[in-house]
Amino acid sequence: MTAASDKYDAIIIGGGHNGLTCAAYLAKAGRKTLVLERRHVLGGAAVTEELYPGFRYTVCSYVVSLLRPEVIRELELAKHGLHILPLQSSFAPMENGDHFATYPDEASTREEILRHSKRDADIFPKFEELMYKMAYAVKPILSMVPPNPANPGLRGLRTLRDFGKHLKQLGPDTFHDLTKIMTMSVSDLLDEWFETDIIKALFGLNGIIGTKLGPKSPGTAYVLLHHYMGELDGAFTAWGWQRGGTGGVSEAIASAARSYGAEIRTEASVAQVIVRNGRAVGVAMENGDEFYADTVVSGCDPRVTFRKLVQEKDLPEDLVAAIDRFKFRGSSGKVNLSLDALPKFTAMSEDTSVQMVEICPSTDYLERAYDDSSYGGFSKRPYMDIIIPSTIDPTMAPPGKHVMSIFVQYASYDMPQYGDKDQQRDAFGNAVIDTLTEFAPNLKDLILHKQVLTPWDLEQEFSLSEGNIFHGELTLDQLFFLRPAPGYADFRTPIKNYYQCGSGTHPGGGITGGPGRLAALEIMRDGN
Ligand SMILES: Cc1cc2nc3c(=O)[nH]c(=O)nc-3n(C[C@H](O)[C@H](O)[C@H](O)COP(=O)(O)OP(=O)(O)OC[C@H]3O[C@@H](n4cnc5c(N)ncnc54)[C@H](O)[C@@H]3O)c2cc1C
Repeated sequence: MTAASDKYDAIIIGGGHNGLTCAAYLAKAGRKTLVLERRHVLGGAAVTEELYPGFRYTVCSYVVSLLRPEVIRELELAKHGLHILPLQSSFAPMENGDHFATYPDEASTREEILRHSKRDADIFPKFEELMYKMAYAVKPILSMVPPNPANPGLRGLRTLRDFGKHLKQLGPDTFHDLTKIMTMSVSDLLDEWFETDIIKALFGLNGIIGTKLGPKSPGTAYVLLHHYMGELDGAFTAWGWQRGGTGGVSEAIASAARSYGAEIRTEASVAQVIVRNGRAVGVAMENGDEFYADTVVSGCDPRVTFRKLVQEKDLPEDLVAAIDRFKFRGSSGKVNLSLDALPKFTAMSEDTSVQMVEICPSTDYLERAYDDSSYGGFSKRPYMDIIIPSTIDPTMAPPGKHVMSIFVQYASYDMPQYGDKDQQRDAFGNAVIDTLTEFAPNLKDLILHKQVLTPWDLEQEFSLSEGNIFHGELTLDQLFFLRPAPGYADFRTPIKNYYQCGSGTHPGGGITGGPGRLAALEIMRDGN
């Protein structure tokens, strides 16, 4: 039991980047703030760990683009170590031995598209323009507290009016395009624009990340748009590499929070929020300690926030039912490798770089990868989004050696047909390495260490329910005023002074800091 003088203004459960962001804003505003993180290291899914001496893995997330510019600015993250290097070139081997590459300069990328299709090269800038317009149309939503359309109140009405004005000023074509993109499949969208399959596949993959949907499933065009919303240096879709891995982003936010006076503890697992007379008053730790505060904020996903940290009797039935229906359905896994040298991709010409590699040779390949996992199990030949951080950032591996970060889809949460959890992990890891070896035959000989994470592992290690990387799928039925549940999307909960600030709230998953910032602003708006 803590002494009364130890009472905090705010306790944040979870030291993921959103929990840390929320803490930084509250501490900056003078609140005595405590962050409690279950793991030994901060960052949640934005974490870097040296699992083998000299080899540093960006264990889960690996690229940064969605981090809200206002968070970077207001928390002065550059001063605290945020240092994002542009990722400018990518390479995608095709099954016929050819490849598609992108380059730092637009002219070379245009040449490459031209090599595949003159028609696609001509239309490419127009497609980029469409996506830019769509991202611009949706952008105000990202920094908006979702109003409840069923019961908006004055503030909600004002928000809806302002957004309506914004859309109106964009004109009817933009509105119609946006409506289509919000509802259609990424494959249908791309078929309307391009003729070359590899180009469609490379755009299409952004429509399936983090969802248990294939490129032909309706709703995936929006997921593509979500990935277009990055504003690194003001350029939409620019993906970057944080020096030291994505743990560096979390560390920068933590450093900002500490500089404003926040206290941050690791290996501090919260068992329960203490609720008295319908009001959160503190937390009880797994080790029996208790901490008290006027405000308690959960940076965990909605299932942990509502179904583990508090008791059902303290929640209304509609919320419990909505959270139980919320789709987690993890579909992504991760394989991190330490390599003795760079692998040689058969389809790679001398002038292409290995910064980023996409194993996604066609839309059908992607859809088949999805089909394989539709009935449980994993893709026999999975889609992989690969980066080799050590080619960009020498701090990630010993001199001459490399680390490879392989993001994989699809894998199911439970895959009993492969045996116990260890056997499931082995089978999944082997499918990844075998498929990759088809494209880079010397890969297996170079592997020094390997880490394989299935969705189940992501849940065990990172408390991501069912292994969903975004705290719940980013599909239209789970976005904006529906995230995580209708009537509970404004960061508040039915328990007084208990708030939510993780990726399961608006504007959703990815390294954005958006939920953390918006939640902090709402908490202060309530006078807490
Ligand atoms: C494999 C993978 C790849 C990804 N790739 C990318 C990418 O490249 N780019 C991108 O932008 N996004 C990516 N994402 C998504 C992104 O990383 C997440 O959406 C984001 O990091 C989630 O941040 P958060 O702060 O909301 O939650 P989390 O990072 O999940 O933080 C929640 C924290 O709460 C802690 N916690 C849980 N329970 C307790 C408890 N009882 N007591 C105390 N602490 C607790 C957890 O340990 C965790 O640290 C990826 C995610 C994964 C898993």
